[in-house]
Formats: sequence, structure tokens, C-alpha cells
Amino acid sequence: MKTFLAFLMALFIILTFMGEKTEAKFISETKFMMDTTVSITVDGSHQDIQKAFSAIEKINFLMNDYIPSTEISVLNRKGTNKLSCDTRQVILKAIHFSKITRGAFDITVGPLVRLWQRMGREKRLPTSNELNRALSLVGYKNIKISGDTVKLLKKGMMLDLGGIAKGYAVDKAIEVLRERGVKNALVNAGGDMYCLGEGPSGKWRVGIQHPRNLRKIVGIISVANRGVATSGDYYRYHVINGKRFGHIINPATGWTVQDTPMSVTIIAPNATTADALATGVFVLGPVKGLELINSLPKVEGMIISKGMKIVTSSGWGKYEVKRFY
Ligand code: AMP
Ligand code: MG
Repeated sequence: MKTFLAFLMALFIILTFMGEKTEAKFISETKFMMDTTVSITVDGSHQDIQKAFSAIEKINFLMNDYIPSTEISVLNRKGTNKLSCDTRQVILKAIHFSKITRGAFDITVGPLVRLWQRMGREKRLPTSNELNRALSLVGYKNIKISGDTVKLLKKGMMLDLGGIAKGYAVDKAIEVLRERGVKNALVNAGGDMYCLGEGPSGKWRVGIQHPRNLRKIVGIISVANRGVATSGDYYRYHVINGKRFGHIINPATGWTVQDTPMSVTIIAPNATTADALATGVFVLGPVKGLELINSLPKVEGMIISKGMKIVTSSGWGKYEVKRFY
């Protein structure tokens, strides 16, 4: 969950506050949280927004593995810990996504994430010894959950919830807003978002960022009551020997994902699913990734590969309103 480099939103929100369709009065606030920019827009009050931010903060203080006092950090240090219901839920969901992506999504990549961060600082590639040592600690099947206790079966294993926790936090913020009677809102945590109800002028319009020309958008989708997430190689990466190494790791090889997608956008019934699948499909690549998306009900996706080769799932057209590439 660490930011290495600059932060440009993976997705642009196209807000037209001049919309005439509804009587709604939208207000918007932005904060730097969970190592990213979180913006909340509601047809509601400042207090609604504050409560939604608090829900996100709560998740961050449970699941951020860069804050030493969080329960996930304690688990990583001790190898076992009693965890809150929220964190256990996220781990269980993560294991589900590991199963359906055949291990491409795997929260036990922690040691590899740390290794690649070190390589970024030291400006070198890992030795095969270093890589194999970290790789030997990866495997979601070595997470044991009994009651409220979670155990990591191999000494040195570390969980990294960076590929799913932001989506979960967004869903929690939306849950709070719903409980407060908010009907229309958008919560966006650095490209992991949920669009509740409608925006100022009909369904929410979300622009998909061009992965190389960050001032441009590839297309626009129109969504209501859906999670949307993008995983890209363009906002968090290290440069080693002049080559770009992204922040998403292939758990099968230990290497950062190279030469396949530049970005993956997923539309799903909730932000947790969209977040985890965007990361998992990024590892799977355009062929296997698209196959997976097409096999899942109510999930759609767009994969942009090198050379701006774009593929979309069978139902993507239901959401797309414009395409520029
Ligand atoms: P996202 O930006 O949602 O695609 O998540 C990327 C983050 O998830 C990385 O910064 C790591 O913390 C973590 N991560 C990297 N590779 C994987 C993977 N294969 N499965 C699950 N999480 C990963
Ligand atoms: Mg993700």
C-alpha cells in the first residue's frame, strides 16, 4: 500500500455540476488517505462526507501494513494475530479472488513487494537467491483462519492488502452513506471507486485514463450502483537500469508484471471485487484476463496493452458511451 512515485488518478470523474436533470445539490471533498487521494462527492451534507472519510480511515488503521501498529502489521511480525471482522472479511475475499484467478491475485506477495521496493531504492535487480527466498514465502494456501485468529504458516510470510483494501474501504464508506440516507454519491480512492445512484446529470460518467498520455482519456463509461477500479503500470513504479518495474507482481515468478497490460479497468457490483479483479487480471494479461472477466456474471472489463491494443469484455458496450482510441 505504499506510494512510490507520483499519483495521478487512474480514472477521471467527469462531473457536470451544471446538470439540469436533477434537483440534487452535490458537494465534494478530497483528502490524502491510504497513500492516495480520496474524493467523496455526495448529494448530501458535509457531515455525510466526514462519516464516510472516518469509515475509510478506520479500514486504513486496520489494514495498512506500513503503519507498525495495525493488526495486519502485528500479524506480519508475529505470524499470528486475532483480527477484526473487517480484516478477516478482506482476507477471506482475497482468498476467493486467489482461487478464481488461479493464484494471479495473492495477498501473500508481501515479501516480494518489500524486495522490489528495496531493489527500487538500491537501483538493482534481485539476485536469484533473493528472489527465490521471497518467492518461497508466497502462497495463499498457507493462510490459516480459525475463529478470529489468523495464522501465517511459514515463518517470514507477510500479507499485503494493497490490491484490495482500498476497494473494501470504498464499499465501507458507501455503506455508511447509504445508512445515512444518501442516495447519490461517488467515492473514489485513487482509482478504486463506487458510483452510488446517479450524478448531477444522470448516471455517473467515468473517464478511463490514457496509460501513457495522462492528460487524455481513452473512453467514457456511464454507471450507476457499480464499483469501478483501474490497475495501471503508470503511477506506481520503480526505474531500475532504465527499465520500468511496476508495482504489481506475478506471484508465479516473483517478477513484476512486464510487457503485458498497461491498464486494466473493471466494472463490478462492488468496489472490493473491482479492485481485486483489476489487480488479478493485470497479472493474468489480456487473453486469460478477458476469459476470466467474461466468465463472471455482472463483471465487465477493459484491458489496454502495449501499443494501445484495447480489448473489452462481452458486455462492456452496455456501459461505454464514448471511445477515443
Ligand atoms: P492495485 O493498485 O489495486 O492494482 O494494487 C497493487 C498493490 O497490490 C501493490 O502495490 C501491492 O501492494 C499489491 N500487489 C502486488 N501484486 C499483487 C498480486 N499479484 N496480488 C495481490 N496484490 C498484489
Ligand atoms: Mg486492486
